[in-house]
Amino acid sequence: MRTHTCNGISRADIGKSVTLIGWVKSKRDQGAGLIFIDLRDREGVTQVVFKPENSKENSELAESFRAEDVIQVIGTVEERPEIDGQSTFNTEIATGEVELIVSEVKVINRAEVLPFPLDKPVNNEDLRLKYRFLDLRRPAMARNMQLRHRITKTTRDVLDEDGFLEIETPILSKSTPEGARDFLVPSRLTPGSFYALPQAPQQYKQLLMCGGVEKYFQIARCFRDEDLRADRQPEFTQIDIEASFVTEDDIIGLTEKLLGRVFKESIGADAPASFERITYQDAMDTYGSDKPDTRFGLHLTDIGDVFANSQFKVFSGALKAGGCIKAINAKGLNSASVGQIDKMTKAAIEAGAKGLAYIQARGPEPADWRSPITKFLSEEELQGLKTKLNIEEGDLVLFGAGDWDTVCDVLGRVRLMCADYLNLLEGNTDLNFLWVTEFPLLHFDKEEGRWHAVHHPFTRPVPEDEEKLKAGEYAGLRAQAYDVVLNGYELGGGSIRIHEAELQDAMFTALGVTEEEKKTMFGHILDAFSFGAPPHGGLALGLDRVAMLVCGTDSIREVIAFPKNNKGTDLMSDSPAEVDFKQLRELYVKSTANKDEKGLKKPQQPAAK
Ligand code: ASP
Repeated sequence: MRTHTCNGISRADIGKSVTLIGWVKSKRDQGAGLIFIDLRDREGVTQVVFKPENSKENSELAESFRAEDVIQVIGTVEERPEIDGQSTFNTEIATGEVELIVSEVKVINRAEVLPFPLDKPVNNEDLRLKYRFLDLRRPAMARNMQLRHRITKTTRDVLDEDGFLEIETPILSKSTPEGARDFLVPSRLTPGSFYALPQAPQQYKQLLMCGGVEKYFQIARCFRDEDLRADRQPEFTQIDIEASFVTEDDIIGLTEKLLGRVFKESIGADAPASFERITYQDAMDTYGSDKPDTRFGLHLTDIGDVFANSQFKVFSGALKAGGCIKAINAKGLNSASVGQIDKMTKAAIEAGAKGLAYIQARGPEPADWRSPITKFLSEEELQGLKTKLNIEEGDLVLFGAGDWDTVCDVLGRVRLMCADYLNLLEGNTDLNFLWVTEFPLLHFDKEEGRWHAVHHPFTRPVPEDEEKLKAGEYAGLRAQAYDVVLNGYELGGGSIRIHEAELQDAMFTALGVTEEEKKTMFGHILDAFSFGAPPHGGLALGLDRVAMLVCGTDSIREVIAFPKNNKGTDLMSDSPAEVDFKQLRELYVKSTANKDEKGLKKPQQPAAK
């Protein structure tokens, strides 16, 4: 249907007859039958010219064209002319030195008036999602889809070169108690039983290692029934990797090679050959985050020593309870507005702080500082603070006091807000890749009174901590787990795994899995580990997030062809949707949902007896 794409003609084609097909991007009607059309396809745009002297009929037809009509044109490529001594070249597009003078035209399909323009930014995302098939025609979206393809293609190439096999694992799998909420699929053939959609192919990939596959990968769909945030989707894609006979360094090296090639081959960006590494402990201590953005400083400083004997109850109380006191000196943010300080305080409270103490250094000496807390501090403490944090005129110092986890988390969030207020990242094009290593193995949930796996139950402790796990000493165990971070986003993570039934059993015990559950939920994996399972480890990268960063967007929805909105709805096909009663009956499922007047679904109240 075409000889060239709409990005495919150049000066070399001048004088040739070519056929193009595409969408009418825009029309400029100069009157008297002279009409310019920008014709667009996936690759680009060509200017197509209808001249009345060539065919009045064609010009009349062209007058009727609307945006997004599909047309086919045959014509001759000509150089764009000079008009009144001025060049009419368009340097913005690849075909900008030429145009197509139409001799034949055919309307292939007409378009209704569009719900939104395709050549301008549209703020209403719901509208874009409802008409995603139109939205995808926008050049920015076409570019995102092309880059996403390049990422998966490069991934396949790199891993194939390294001997990895791409293997699919089941989508209909089994629910296990760890992790997020499962999506369930009722089984018609086993009434009352359910499959679960995989949250990740974690167990299957380990079972592949037990099966002697040695090197596995998959571009894997994963499903988690969670409340959605900006960069979460109920279904998402991972680059899932597992290998046998490997160390942490092997997986780290492979991932660095893979990400290096992905960034190079998609956007030509150079990633370092090996990435910096930081332990979880240091990342939290210094940046207040396990996925720190290291493109700027604003470090957290421990100031406990300055307040070792303080009369100020908030500080002394934190230290007495075994906690810590930390501060950030946001240089130059002394002029923060009341609104900005309020916002940071609100964020601190949301993260578990009681408030956010601060000092605005209106001058170099403590006497010039404005602060709700300095009146409780001694002169010695103020001077100690000044030296420790290098407080100068113009600074804003923000404090956190309490248990270590909360203080780090609170100041980590405040740190990002300060960077934003200070515009520290404006124009920054750095790619700061980072490994965060030595994560804790277990986390104690005070509310539930039980231990959870920080990564997942198959993560291996560091060798020094193996015996402690078996002995039931759970506090402070470290994992052979690692996350890869880019500019404050977690791109992925993984671990070296447990491969012995005995150690895995001890891990399940730590997590409160009962003997019965060990058999029913995890019998297969414990079994597999008892028949000569090889040592193995791996990692998964969030493909959507990698694509988001490659494409330079701030939402994963921009890099997913048909995403759900933040209520988990596909606005285009209007799913999820109700199904016929008969369909449910076949599945032995009965809905207890009840629709109130607003159309919201509510669980039905049990009928009074
Ligand atoms: N399956 C893990 C996850 O989805 C990644 C891994 O440990 O390989 O987070």
